[in-house]
Amino acid sequence: MSGVFNFCAGPAMLPTPVMAQAQQELVNWQNLGVSVMEISHRSTEFIEVATNAERDLRELLNIPDNYKVLFCHGGGRGQFSAVPLNLLPKGKSADYIVTGSWSKAAVAEAEHYGDIRIINAVEEVSGQQQVTDVNTWDLDPNAAYVHYCPNETVDGIEMFEIPDTKGIPLVADMSSTILSRPIDVSKFGVIYAGAQKNIGPSGLTLVIVRDDLLGNARKTTPAVLDYTITAAKESMFNTPPTYAWYLAGLVFQWLKALGGVDKIEQTNIEKAEKLYQFIDQSDFYINRVNKQNRSRMNVPFWLKDESLNSAFLSQAQENGLLALEGHRSVGGMRASIYNAMPLAGVEALIRFMSRFEQENK
Ligand SMILES: *Cc1c(COP(=O)(O)O)cnc(C)c1O
Repeated sequence: MSGVFNFCAGPAMLPTPVMAQAQQELVNWQNLGVSVMEISHRSTEFIEVATNAERDLRELLNIPDNYKVLFCHGGGRGQFSAVPLNLLPKGKSADYIVTGSWSKAAVAEAEHYGDIRIINAVEEVSGQQQVTDVNTWDLDPNAAYVHYCPNETVDGIEMFEIPDTKGIPLVADMSSTILSRPIDVSKFGVIYAGAQKNIGPSGLTLVIVRDDLLGNARKTTPAVLDYTITAAKESMFNTPPTYAWYLAGLVFQWLKALGGVDKIEQTNIEKAEKLYQFIDQSDFYINRVNKQNRSRMNVPFWLKDESLNSAFLSQAQENGLLALEGHRSVGGMRASIYNAMPLAGVEALIRFMSRFEQENK
């Protein structure tokens, strides 16, 4: 909608041109007289959508041939179970790096399946949160895998360095950072991401898994969570979320046309820097994350005078700036500025914040 910027953490805004194309194609897709969501996932037409989406994603992230790309149901939280079910044999343990709410939630689920070693990796230095030095992490050389969350959506903590796990498979929950910057996929065993932040609508989950990790799922693994079955059936063991898959494909095309992940990273850096700079120079707003770990996608901030919170939120909304309320567990505000958020949205937010500060100081 014109004049409105949606800062929701997820489901998040989608690129405007993608929404316009989806609207145009909604009831009569490719002159079939029906919607893409009303056709068989096994039809030639849909298989083409599916294949193109995978091809474009592989191109965008430069995914090596020895990785499978799976289009699953179940969201990020489904993967909190799928990861141990597929990778954690009975009797072994896994290391979980905890940097915030989502990595903590991943631990809680994984603990149903085996021995989970927790490595708390956030420290506070002069009132600011930062991720501890990777070299100080007490990693178990016999762990089945190491799990971490490169971007903590709630806490606004991002890790840009890929931890060196000395050959132990590294598993990453990239739900809120995938496609925001280039990554070296070959450094990972498994990458997963719920779609509703940077990929498309909710209901779709991407899994990128290295071939040699397949074939080890526990016997009791539900088939829909089994990477090996999903890979063998090309993500069509059960009916995939076809419409979400189609929309993800449109998002990948949009991103390619923009110049790909290298290009969007530049815009993401510019957006985040502008917003953090504005927060830092103000004594009205604060952010509590150290510069090196500030998320480019989710910017939490607090009003020093929290009694102004509801006025801030309602006036923001009147000005077309939506969904700025922080996660209920941490309070304050949060601006989620994923790939689809244009620079103009961040600029409009800064203008509003500046005016609000002048009027309420
Ligand atoms: C949103 C999010 C999730 C949860 O995804 P669901 O699809 O709701 O299960 C998990 N991890 C991270 C980092 C997220 O941002």
